[in-house]
Amino acid sequence: MNIFQLARANVRALEPYQSARRIGGKGSIWLNANEYPQPTFYMPRSGNLNRYPDCQPKGIINSYASYAGVQPNQVLACRGADEGIELMIRAFCEPGQDAILFCPPTYGMYRVSAETFGVECRTVPALDNWQLDLPEIYTRLNGVKLVYICSPNNPTGNIINLSDTRKLLEMTDGRTLLVADEAYIDFCPVASLASLLTDYPHLVILRTLSKAFALAGLRCGFVLANADVIELLLKVIAPYPLSLPVADIAEQALSAEGLRQTSQRIAEINSNRNFLISELAKCPCVCVVFPSVSNYLLVCFDPAYHVFQTLWDQGTILRDQSKQTGLSDCLRITIGTRLECQSLVVALKALTLSPTLP
Ligand SMILES: *Cc1c(COP(=O)(O)O)cnc(C)c1O
Repeated sequence: MNIFQLARANVRALEPYQSARRIGGKGSIWLNANEYPQPTFYMPRSGNLNRYPDCQPKGIINSYASYAGVQPNQVLACRGADEGIELMIRAFCEPGQDAILFCPPTYGMYRVSAETFGVECRTVPALDNWQLDLPEIYTRLNGVKLVYICSPNNPTGNIINLSDTRKLLEMTDGRTLLVADEAYIDFCPVASLASLLTDYPHLVILRTLSKAFALAGLRCGFVLANADVIELLLKVIAPYPLSLPVADIAEQALSAEGLRQTSQRIAEINSNRNFLISELAKCPCVCVVFPSVSNYLLVCFDPAYHVFQTLWDQGTILRDQSKQTGLSDCLRITIGTRLECQSLVVALKALTLSPTLP
């Protein structure tokens, strides 16, 4: 029996997300997954695991609501922003009928989640400055239930203009939800759309503890939206999405002391980013460093493949973005420790002295 033939057609055709972990590599400097470069030292405090956890632990919901400046009934806790992406599709998209729309180059999981459920992906490439092509989005909105935007955008690093986002919110009012992926917003909190939730019932915001909170291994994220959306998502989420140890550590990370440590990390990463930007400008193999408000830089090289491969062989692992729409010769570099930034720069400067491969 061919088990493969029994799978749903869209699952057979599915190209899975190429996560940094799946791609692998043998490295000492990991700059490919936008993780924080050093561990945190939280430990779960509660030992008793014989009882099920709360579906939505109050402590976490209240702390995150106050951190994000929204009401507790506007917060859903889930297993990373990735689960938020999927819950939205599960709750709102009719397979084979509704579509989602997003604007490449951007994060890869919108496509994977939609295809898993047999939901059409419609793409409207971003403009040359990585902003939204609003007229084109407008003409392609028919049948679209969810528009995903990513701000700061992964992998380009830019914020989507607030005035464009407002226009998109007006344009989608009453027929489409706008899902703003703010996985990196903690590095640039003034750009958050959270304060717009009150005015726009169809706005949904995705957040995570994986990036600035340095807890990618924890698997904890949040959906911010109005109470009606949260209520619908609670119908489709697993009964116990967060294990007790996860909930306990998330609560510590959101305590006053946890938030203080996070803001320290953000200041450090932002300073390392500015250091790396100025050093990259001195590397002859670098063509363009795109401005970024986030914990990574998109960099165009001459040629990217040579840079990627040479550093890979040396144990410095970057993320190849050259297959993405409009990103030929681009690599994405996560901002690591100051020491990691320095050794990256040394490697890049040395590399320009070696002959270019054919
Ligand atoms: C990392 C990332 C996510 C996923 O975050 P998790 O909370 O770890 O699932 C979602 N969106 C973007 C844009 C990301 O870069």
